[in-house]
Amino acid sequence: MRRVKGVWRWAAVIGLALSVAACGRGGIDAKRIEAADGSEWLTYGRTYDEQRFSPLKQVDRQTVGRLGVAWWADFDTDRGQEATPLVADGVLYTTTAWSKVAAFDARTGKLLWKYDPKVPGEAGFNACCDVVNRGAALWKDKLYVGTIDGRLIALDAKTGAVAWDVQTTDRSKPYTITGAPRVVKGKVLIGNGGAEYGVRGYVSAYDAASGKLSWRFYTTPNPKGAPDGAASDKVFRDKAAATWSDGVWKESGGGGTVWDAITYDPKLDLVFVGVGNGNPWNHKLRSGGKGDNLFLSSIVALRPDTGEYVWHYQTTPGESWDYTATQHIMLADLKIGGADRRVVMQAPKNGFFYVLDARTGALISAEKYVPVDWAERVDPKTGRPVEAPFARYRDGAVSQQASSPLGGHNWQPMAFSPKERLVYIPAMRNRGFYAEAQGFKFIPGAWNTGLVRAQAGPNTPSPKPATPPLATGELIAWDPVAGRPRWSLTLPTAWTSGVLATDGGLVFHAAGSAFTAYDARDGKALWTHDAGANVIAPAMTYAIDGEQYVALMVGVGGAPMGGDQPRRMGRLLVFKLGGTAKPPAFPAAVAMPALDLAAATPSAGDADRGAALYGEFCGACHRVGGLLPVLPRSPAILDPDGFKAIVLDGALKGNGMAPFRRYFDEAGAEDLRAFLLWQAKQPPPAPKPGGASHG
Ligand code: CA
Repeated sequence: MRRVKGVWRWAAVIGLALSVAACGRGGIDAKRIEAADGSEWLTYGRTYDEQRFSPLKQVDRQTVGRLGVAWWADFDTDRGQEATPLVADGVLYTTTAWSKVAAFDARTGKLLWKYDPKVPGEAGFNACCDVVNRGAALWKDKLYVGTIDGRLIALDAKTGAVAWDVQTTDRSKPYTITGAPRVVKGKVLIGNGGAEYGVRGYVSAYDAASGKLSWRFYTTPNPKGAPDGAASDKVFRDKAAATWSDGVWKESGGGGTVWDAITYDPKLDLVFVGVGNGNPWNHKLRSGGKGDNLFLSSIVALRPDTGEYVWHYQTTPGESWDYTATQHIMLADLKIGGADRRVVMQAPKNGFFYVLDARTGALISAEKYVPVDWAERVDPKTGRPVEAPFARYRDGAVSQQASSPLGGHNWQPMAFSPKERLVYIPAMRNRGFYAEAQGFKFIPGAWNTGLVRAQAGPNTPSPKPATPPLATGELIAWDPVAGRPRWSLTLPTAWTSGVLATDGGLVFHAAGSAFTAYDARDGKALWTHDAGANVIAPAMTYAIDGEQYVALMVGVGGAPMGGDQPRRMGRLLVFKLGGTAKPPAFPAAVAMPALDLAAATPSAGDADRGAALYGEFCGACHRVGGLLPVLPRSPAILDPDGFKAIVLDGALKGNGMAPFRRYFDEAGAEDLRAFLLWQAKQPPPAPKPGGASHG
């Protein structure tokens, strides 16, 4: 009785009384997304503006102390969990690593259905930054998900049955999909990743009902110089192709993948897509050091019906550092200089927080949200960065600069409180090492950055500093009008979670396993829950039967950066006021036994040559502090035949360890083993996060 009374009092206060019961069984459409009152979470960033602000306020500064677990669900993978769950019609949908989908009763946690797209394990080899998935999209009666092997799949939202399944990429190339689709005006928009490995980026729109391709917009020119028959043809002919010169892009496709941000503005009828870094990273090798290389590292505005180009803003012209502009693109109405402005906001990897006019793309402001030294400032007249002289690591010079390829901010979504008029940025302070690779050759499918990747061997010193630069995590409450932080917190880990803001005056954010609600006004911690495992995903919130819930995917990964943190099986935690559920503790990590090097078959391989192979092909994923097993600690290196079975022939391809026979032969594998045995005998380096991480 008391509960029912409470329910109605609360519902009346925020006007929710009928919305949940009445929410259309006719499916999700634009009207429903635009009218969302907070009880449901219908699209990736909750609403089209991607502010990740919920009007729910049952959980507020006063009540948050009573927040406890209402229900939980465990998953079958220990890879990174990055998804934002969706909630519609009382059902919570989430995706997990390996592009799997699960639907739960959002009130009780009862599993309604699950779906496994059966991504081949070796497809994980093409994912630079773990086999993660950031979420699904809802439209009408269907749920849409992209997969690591480049498919876009429509499922019946009620049953999980496959309605259609289309390949959006050339499977002979190292494309992946980790981002959430968005549905705009009956079209499912999806990009892809793979820029480090050598692909040509694009965003596609598919008919939501049939799965038929509607339009495609490429972000780099066609290497053959021919039109694609795509929406991007005109702008490349008119201006973008001329910003590229001869270079490796003609082999590699140039990169420019649209792997995360896709934001729709129904008021302006524009879609904004965030474009990634070039391939190779090194501008001198990619394009002879000439030209801006449109549309790398740009926000591009397109017409959703046709994919027609409207405007672009390039955050990093002549990109040479993995400074993607794929990061979260957020829309807001701000009063700037006395005028009401509709703006696009982004904190890309390059360390500047951009506020742009959403209609024209004109630069309003660009201020450093973390300390960066690659550019002094962004010239307000030209909209271009004023680069530091050392930034381009030319003529054999090296550059140790902020920010690193990890970025001042990576994929983790920000949140905006229209009440506080603050953007909450999960940021990082870090420095990166850049030096040009000598004798660079593009190797299809391998890690092609055009940077020195040398690994120290017995007789080959590393050009990199012995101590990798440290990265520090920060939660910044950024005033986008003033262009400076109002408050910020230094966090115990650098690779932290996305953010949720609510009208309860709260900001939810996790660092390590500590899931914390902060006062949105001043950053004071009001409530903390130990998730038992580390968290990188953003929380979301919804309400059913007058109770507000807060949901969070648990499970670290998502970049080599996450690898130092203990890995646990994925879990979904759902909280409510007075929740008393007690999920079981995660099993303790089994410590890797020390290698018995005396049992190793000695190797006659060339350890210095092995070091070079390691730097070229293995180090990006298998490094200390990395996501995958640290090879000098792996028992696989003890035995030459077992080692070759894994490295050359794909014995563990189901886990993502694709065969490397396409890159080196038996002798190379033995050289690599000789190097790893040598390294296993070295005193262990102090593992530190930072350095050459990426995303
Ligand atoms: Ca990248």
